[in-house]
Amino acid sequence: MTERTGASNAANIASHAAGCIPARISPKPCVARANPLGVDANPWVHWMRIARRHVSAKSESSPQDVSSNALGVEARRTYSGASSSLAATDDDDDDDDADADSVLVDDDARRPARDDRTPPPRAFRRAARFAATRDARTDAHRRANMANEARRVTFSKRRKVRTTRPDDPHTSTRSSSTTEGMATKTRAPAVGFLGLGIMGAAMARTLARSGVRVAAWNRSSDKAKACVDAFEREDRALAEERGGSIATVGCPSEIAGTCEVTFAMLADPRAAVDVARAYASGLDGAGGGGTKRTYVDCSTVDGGCGESTMDILGRDRVQFLAAPVSGGWRDAAKGELLFIGGGSREAYEAASKHMDVMGAKRWLVGDTPTHAARAKLMLQIMMGNVIGALGEMHSLSQRAGLDSSAVLEMLSHSAMGSPLTTAKGKLMESKDFSPNFQVYLQQKDLRLALQLADELDFAAPITAATNAQYLKAKSLGYANSDFAAVAAAYTDARSPGRSE
Ligand code: NAP
Repeated sequence: MTERTGASNAANIASHAAGCIPARISPKPCVARANPLGVDANPWVHWMRIARRHVSAKSESSPQDVSSNALGVEARRTYSGASSSLAATDDDDDDDDADADSVLVDDDARRPARDDRTPPPRAFRRAARFAATRDARTDAHRRANMANEARRVTFSKRRKVRTTRPDDPHTSTRSSSTTEGMATKTRAPAVGFLGLGIMGAAMARTLARSGVRVAAWNRSSDKAKACVDAFEREDRALAEERGGSIATVGCPSEIAGTCEVTFAMLADPRAAVDVARAYASGLDGAGGGGTKRTYVDCSTVDGGCGESTMDILGRDRVQFLAAPVSGGWRDAAKGELLFIGGGSREAYEAASKHMDVMGAKRWLVGDTPTHAARAKLMLQIMMGNVIGALGEMHSLSQRAGLDSSAVLEMLSHSAMGSPLTTAKGKLMESKDFSPNFQVYLQQKDLRLALQLADELDFAAPITAATNAQYLKAKSLGYANSDFAAVAAAYTDARSPGRSE
């Protein structure tokens, strides 16, 4: 047997030990195989290359059952039969656990070529270990991918596929790729949540249920406790399976210190600014390894509030996104909110995967918070006026001696009817004003819309009249009732407009 034949056989043996090719002693000298390093090249490098080629060809079909120890033993045993000049010792094993590539480059490749090209046993073990490591990694990778995919499929709740105009660069629907990270059990940084009111609590719980660790804060501790209690009762089992949780903290500054991405869901501009200030006080000395914090304010506010918040947070240390939402707490619980984003593209991207958990659709409508705030207020003009008009219709139909429930039914079958008018009509009929979206919030939205119209010298008489009705409902004690209670502004015995 020539020296080169011995080298070739060594590679064969090592590869066979990895379960890659049938063991055979090549009758041909190794020089017959393509060796880009030429005849003077280091033979250790050459063996490794060959072993590697065989392993990669085989790893797709049989990555399992590879044990590096077994391989080493098998390689030694087999080679001993072929070359009595080799004596393997276990003492050499110590340094063989290093990455095979680095062994190849840092050690053997730099070793001067020997005159005697008889392969030492160490090279076999390395080639065999390399094969084992590589196969084991491939297998682990594949198993991890399958597990992630299984979790993703499990989580896929009723998803409505909504159409997106393909020519609109600011529009994107939730795609499967955007949900990839949410079900992983790896310890991703916690996400901050400020404000656990009706909306905030539902959003934070949805995030946690999807596998996110949520660090949450609320001004009054009873609502924070109610949120955690509901989470424990209803979501905990599912959340834990995915690595999610909700833990409350004592102040917003703690969240600034620990969370890279934070969402806020607060009542109005004053609350949004106050809480942002408290959060910002925790930014000094906050870690993050140079990563900018991302702060996403989902509250319905005006553009000026968003700009102030950016100043308070510091434009150089926090990337800010205004992302008011459309949809109620039920949509938040189902992950079907609509996010209207305004701010930096970086902040939008950083928040996207979490918005996709809580929402069905998102837009980046402009590069300032003002863009988002104004777009959201347009929707609120419609909402306030529609429900204001519904309250008026419902109250007048009763005054006229009509069957108001029959009128509501006609409405729901007509072109003017909608899921919103049907749902709120029922609440008006039953006088069930337990809060979903409260009167004080709808009135705040109309106030902000009227301020905007005023700034722009734009007359908005219909909205102004509707706003007066919500103000009246508030003054009658319905501030914290569902905004269907605007109907009560027409019929409440204390209402100045009501004549018996
Ligand atoms: P909510 O139940 O009344 O909750 C308001 C939250 O703001 C609570 O966490 C409250 O804390 C906090 N807050 C109020 N003033 C504060 C202050 N000065 N400092 C610190 N925190 C303060 O209202 P929501 O329904 O969740 O609505 C939140 C936001 O989402 C509003 O901007 C609303 O317009 C918008 N929105 C609501 C809906 C809906 O259907 N409800 C839908 C879309 C958008 P406390 O618990 O301590 O009072």
